Amino acid sequence: MGIGKIEAPELLGLNKFNVDEENAHIELKKDICVKCEDKPCLFVCPAVLYNLEKSGEVSFDFAGCLECGTCRVVCKNKGIVKWTYPRGTFGVNFRFG
Ligand code: SF4
Repeated sequence: MGIGKIEAPELLGLNKFNVDEENAHIELKKDICVKCEDKPCLFVCPAVLYNLEKSGEVSFDFAGCLECGTCRVVCKNKGIVKWTYPRGTFGVNFRFG
C-alpha cells in the first residue's frame, strides 16, 4: 500500500493533535536561546515550530510537535530545559491517508 503522490506538507497536515494546553511538554529558556550562535532548532524541526523573532529571541509553539526529538538532540546549549512526551492521550496522532 503506497501513499501515491502526496507531498510531505500535505501528509503532515493529515495528523491530528490533542494539545495539552495546561502542560507544555517542551520548554525553552529564552535567555539561553537568544545567545546561541547557531540556533539549530530553527532548521531541524520538521514541523517548523521554532521561529526567529526580529529581537533575536526564539519563539516556539509546542502545539504541532511531532515528538521526533530532533530539537532535543541538536540543542547543545541547554536552551531546551524540558523535553518530555505529552501526557497520555495528548500529543500527535499520526494519520497516513
Ligand atoms: S520534537 Fe521534533 S517536531 Fe517536536 S519541536 Fe522538536 S524537532 Fe519539532
